[in-house]
Amino acid sequence: MRFDVLTLFPAMLEGFLAESMVGKSIQRGIVEANVHNLRSWTTDKHQITDDRPFGGGAGMVMKPGPIFGAIEELKREDSQVIYLAPDGEKLDHSLVLELAKVPHLILLSGHYEGVDERVRESLIDREVSIGDYVLTNGTLPAAVLIDAVARQLPGVLGEAQSLEQDSFSDGLLGLPQYTRPANFRGMTVPDVLLSGDHAKIEAWRQEQRRLRTSERRPDLLPD
Ligand code: SAM
Repeated sequence: MRFDVLTLFPAMLEGFLAESMVGKSIQRGIVEANVHNLRSWTTDKHQITDDRPFGGGAGMVMKPGPIFGAIEELKREDSQVIYLAPDGEKLDHSLVLELAKVPHLILLSGHYEGVDERVRESLIDREVSIGDYVLTNGTLPAAVLIDAVARQLPGVLGEAQSLEQDSFSDGLLGLPQYTRPANFRGMTVPDVLLSGDHAKIEAWRQEQRRLRTSERRPDLLPD
């Protein structure tokens, strides 16, 4: 799967794309991620990407020219163009699964007051928010989206991690986990986990997931 990120802050993604599962999936060729500086598509000497809003008011707006240039150059038949925006549809597990089926995602990160509305009207297939709060620019939201989508691709997670036990994978939250030592400063591990009885352990885990979900996120449980 290929990602192309359009941002004014490419350096923000350097560490992210080199580390952890995303870094490994790039090394293994499962994921291709290209980060582009939108200034490369400016045509003026000062590489200006923003201007004052028509009608006045505070802030700056990202100019349409460089964004049109970038997307027109990068877009393929099988691409989806996503603008990361606080007023977009909220990123959740089902949207992540949907996006993991798309061969090529172009992720546009805004800055300042966001992008000229004509970009949103004519170039963007989908607008995605990572939550009801406002960040200074869309580069971290692009990273969040890549991370969540990439870990759903076959071969990205090693044996050490499994998708099935994850929160939201089957509508329930994840389970409480313990590792050695069995007694840490007097805090012990539930006996069942040391019993070696796999059926009992599985039943306990499912019960814990249901309990945790009803305590923390009752909205996820069926009525
Ligand atoms: N004026 C815009 C508004 O009120 O919706 C906010 C612009 S924000 C300061 C600058 C950029 O950060 C946005 O264009 C978007 O790309 C990104 N951004 C900020 N918060 C975000 C969020 N919660 N989800 C996705 N992108 C976000």
